[in-house]
Amino acid sequence: MKVLITGAAGFIGSHLCDKFIKEGFYVIGLDNFLTGSPDNIAHLFGNKNFRFIEYDVTNYIYIPDDIDIILHFACPASPVDYLKHPIHTMKVDSLGTLHTLGLAKKKRARYVFASTSEVYGDPQIHPQPESYWGNVNPVGIRSVYDEAKRFSEAMSMAYHREHGIDVRIARIFNTYGERMRLNDGRVIPNFICYALENRNLPVYGDGSQTRSFCYIDDLIEGIFRLTVMDGLEGEIFNLGNPEEYTILELASKIIQKTGSQSTVEFLPPMEDDPKKRCPDISKARRILNWEPKISLDEGLENTIQYFKLKLNKNKKNPADGGA
Ligand code: NAD
Ligand code: UDP
Repeated sequence: MKVLITGAAGFIGSHLCDKFIKEGFYVIGLDNFLTGSPDNIAHLFGNKNFRFIEYDVTNYIYIPDDIDIILHFACPASPVDYLKHPIHTMKVDSLGTLHTLGLAKKKRARYVFASTSEVYGDPQIHPQPESYWGNVNPVGIRSVYDEAKRFSEAMSMAYHREHGIDVRIARIFNTYGERMRLNDGRVIPNFICYALENRNLPVYGDGSQTRSFCYIDDLIEGIFRLTVMDGLEGEIFNLGNPEEYTILELASKIIQKTGSQSTVEFLPPMEDDPKKRCPDISKARRILNWEPKISLDEGLENTIQYFKLKLNKNKKNPADGGA
């Protein structure tokens, strides 16, 4: 079975490549390295079940092989990244989605789209079930990401209804772990790097906003199940960890776990920052028989170890930058 993964050099995409290869699939990875890094997939170069194509999926995609499954994961995902590349973000989740869906139609491939909890915007229903339509500001600064994801979901469903493509949508909630970049900008890598350098942790707003953090290994297992299980055409699943923390609770956990001298520094709130977020994962529990197994404590310990090594490597070789 052949799988095409876009965003293969990114945080989630590179772990997906590992998982599918481990499970016996042949993987073709596509990435243009906008926010990903060759380091994330360097260990796969030379693997007979892996091929990498450096490519921008906003262009027409030509792949000669038969393909059984396409996972469209290319897209800047950190708010810092998508605010830096607003138009590209909209293109990769409109043109990129269109091209990967067109390819799925041509190859009669199953299609998995990486959507996000951001489709719920600043939610008025809590926790968020898949049936909730969301509360998104269509013209705010985050809309480049939120609306592109919503468009991609609509486009995926249109291909399902009009062309009978077997599409599945994963609404992914905040996920963290090894292979995130030092300068990724998302809250966990930021807080860990600041804490390890004994700098004060930047908290946007009063820190009472909540998030629910899923460790990468748990997420990958959920995506794998959603992808390989039969009979899920047109289905949408929340994938995330339902344990909810305020950003201040997260900051103190990270300060304590790193043994840092840091404290927190309050900064102005980010525009349209969702005030709370927590997945209702009853559907994934019931149908995929999936739920996260790794606690925030355990996941943070692994991630802190990873960033310690990365920071040390960077100190020895500053030319590596923030990759
Ligand atoms: P990431 O930034 O690490 O990975 C995205 C990858 O896509 C990068 O390798 C980047 O170079 C690549 N890319 C961007 N534009 C491209 C293009 N035009 N052509 C080819 N490749 C391109 O982010 P991530 O956290 O791994 O997120 C992966 C996917 O999962 C994204 O679609 C994101 O929206 C979704 N997601 C992630 C999270 C999370 O918490 N990590 C949450 C919700 C949704
Ligand atoms: N945040 C913060 N300090 C940081 C980075 C993020 O206080 O250095 C906050 C941010 O305002 C948001 C939450 O942490 O409320 C999660 O932010 P992140 O960028 O990780 O992802 P989001 O869930 O907003 O997409």
